[in-house]
Amino acid sequence: MAAILLDGAAVARHINSELKQRVTKLSKRGVQPGLAAVQLGDNPAARIYVHNKVRVCAEVGLYSEVHRLDADCPERVLLTALDKLNLNSRIHGIIVQLPLPRHLDTARIVQSIAVDKDVDGFNWRNLGALVDGHPLFVPCTPQGVMTLLDRTGIPVEGRHAVVIGRSGIVGKPMALLLIGRGATVTVCNSKTPNLAHITRQADILVVAAGRPGLVSGEMVKPGATVIDVGINRLPNGKLVGDVDFEGAQQRAAYITPVPGGVGPMTVAMLVDNTVTAAERCAAAQLLAAAPAS
Ligand code: NAP
Repeated sequence: MAAILLDGAAVARHINSELKQRVTKLSKRGVQPGLAAVQLGDNPAARIYVHNKVRVCAEVGLYSEVHRLDADCPERVLLTALDKLNLNSRIHGIIVQLPLPRHLDTARIVQSIAVDKDVDGFNWRNLGALVDGHPLFVPCTPQGVMTLLDRTGIPVEGRHAVVIGRSGIVGKPMALLLIGRGATVTVCNSKTPNLAHITRQADILVVAAGRPGLVSGEMVKPGATVIDVGINRLPNGKLVGDVDFEGAQQRAAYITPVPGGVGPMTVAMLVDNTVTAAERCAAAQLLAAAPAS
């Protein structure tokens, strides 16, 4: 029997409608959550990602602004732009679309975003706090995967989860979230020998390698949940994940499509983080305005 599709787009729509209610509540207190997206150069893929984020922000009722800088923009210009956004009270969340041009120090740029506006959750203070389970913001893609599992009723505790990929923005935080929820976690990378032997043990298989066709149907344990994070554009223009969808869906119990799986969940989590940032800001303002007893 073919696997049940985990429809991230539908779950994300539901989450976005819940977020609208939180935005309406905030508007009654005179606050509109605001997101600033910074993009360097005019990479078409980056433009689409930023466009999607801004579009969903508008649908949910957020204010957003996009700052497009030249690909050869000097680092100090970018850092100055981020400093201004850090101080801008209209903006509650800031993202810099990655990857950055090579002449820029990505770590320095990401660390320059104020930790309470770091809605991508990439600041080391947020990533470090995730180890202990108490970050201000969780990176959006891993959080989107966890939310998709939760909202579709797929249990995590006690399951063997295998994560392919160990990047700081997807694989590692994904593993930490799964560990925090009581899964037994194996993390694989490009040096892992006999990948298939490991993936066949996975009750939950999260693939985030950026390699189309990396996981074939035979590498999937019958009855597994397969989460395909990968987004790859083939030479013919088709968008595919890292998993051979046709093969894997014959063995898996649940599987995410690409597109329409993890992608929309990532954007919903970004908007959620931005609304949360605005709620925290409004609460702090209330506290500051309260008469001292
Ligand atoms: P990344 O920084 O390039 O990391 C890729 C990871 O995959 C690395 O840890 C790499 O191992 C591992 N890997 C590569 N080839 C492998 C192989 N043959 N076997 C096992 N592991 C292998 O990429 P990323 O930023 O984590 O993103 C991963 C994918 O997710 C990309 O396709 C990206 O476009 C997609 N993505 C999607 C969303 C979404 O919203 N759906 C969000 C973010 C990213 P090494 O460390 O050993 O090199």
